[in-house]
Amino acid sequence: MGNSRNMAICEMQQLKTRTNLIGLTREQLAERLAEIGTPSDKIRMRVDQIWTWIYVRGARRFADMTNLAKTYRVQLDQTCRLEVPQCIQKEISGDGTRKYLFRLNGGHEVETVYIPEPDRGTVCLSSQVGCTLNCSFCHTGTQAFVRNLVPEEIIGQFMAVRDDLGEWPLPGRNPKSEQRLASNIVLMGMGEPLYNFDNVRDAMQIAMDGKGISLSRRRITLSTAGVVPGIHRTGEEIGCRLAISLHGTTDEIRSKLVPINRKWGLDELLDALRNYPRLSNADRITFEYAMIRDINDSDQDAHRLVNLLRNIPAKVNLIPFNRWPGTQFERSSPERIRKFAGIVFKAGYPSPVRTPRGEDIMAACGQLKSTSQRQRLRSGKVAVAS
Ligand code: SAH
Repeated sequence: MGNSRNMAICEMQQLKTRTNLIGLTREQLAERLAEIGTPSDKIRMRVDQIWTWIYVRGARRFADMTNLAKTYRVQLDQTCRLEVPQCIQKEISGDGTRKYLFRLNGGHEVETVYIPEPDRGTVCLSSQVGCTLNCSFCHTGTQAFVRNLVPEEIIGQFMAVRDDLGEWPLPGRNPKSEQRLASNIVLMGMGEPLYNFDNVRDAMQIAMDGKGISLSRRRITLSTAGVVPGIHRTGEEIGCRLAISLHGTTDEIRSKLVPINRKWGLDELLDALRNYPRLSNADRITFEYAMIRDINDSDQDAHRLVNLLRNIPAKVNLIPFNRWPGTQFERSSPERIRKFAGIVFKAGYPSPVRTPRGEDIMAACGQLKSTSQRQRLRSGKVAVAS
């Protein structure tokens, strides 16, 4: 008696917990629509309609989905929800870079960055709260790992940035005909995406879906510190571009900067890259290399780097080290960086020096860290999101 009553209460509670449809794959969405009683011969069509509302129109209310019957909209509203992470703070840099702090369910926070450039706009997404890797020069590395983000939180960051940019098309406009503000994704925020593979894959599949956000796989770059088993899977199951946080040209130096190198050393990493399924001159691998004074920035390092990259279609992104409060490292001098870049370039590899963006708001590479453990900086630059 008591048991069946408990079960009934349990069922009622389940009904009350409405499923977030944002972040579900098409298959999961179909399953959910079946569960709420959508007739099976209508499911495909309903998935298409709802998908368009969510990912093309940016709808956040079932009531707005005017091509669905009113009773069905009410039914959806009672069983499902449409939610992206809540922006609790936004800072805009002098160079136009925007940094967002998002609060997730459960109260944890992650940072997301939007970087406008003349020919594109890149959204830098976080994949975990904190990180397990402890890279010695990375600010996120000083923060304890809390948890993996789920697909709704990963794609939700992108959607919330589009909300802020006012980028959802107005009804009747062709979404593909306009130049996009948020045209590219880099998985280079907080966390190691390949330690959260399935969730990152599902979120990127949503971003690439041709009837939704519709980003080409070439506009997505996943950055890894070198989780070797995940590299092949990335090529097979996501097909996006790859960036590798290299930073050191010997196992000794790299292990000090990127400790995961002790698990998968340079030889193993480079082997995996040579076998990356998507590798070609059009789809080069980007090697990220933070220029840290007297640690990894000598001419000898540059020559070793070029040797390592032999036979890999590659591009080297030189990132002047971004300082953060408490770091022991210094940025290499501009002359040193120029000389280093020259050696790499002469060997046939593009070697752009990445201009630090959003430095004034601590939004540059490797500076992301949620404010939960950092004193909130209140200054004239800080605008609290409304
Ligand atoms: N875990 C993934 C994703 C983080 S991406 C990875 O390691 O690739 C963030 C990029 O910024 C990485 O290349 C990281 O090595 C780099 N980075 C971290 N701290 C930095 C700093 N202080 N200055 C410059 N680059 C930094």
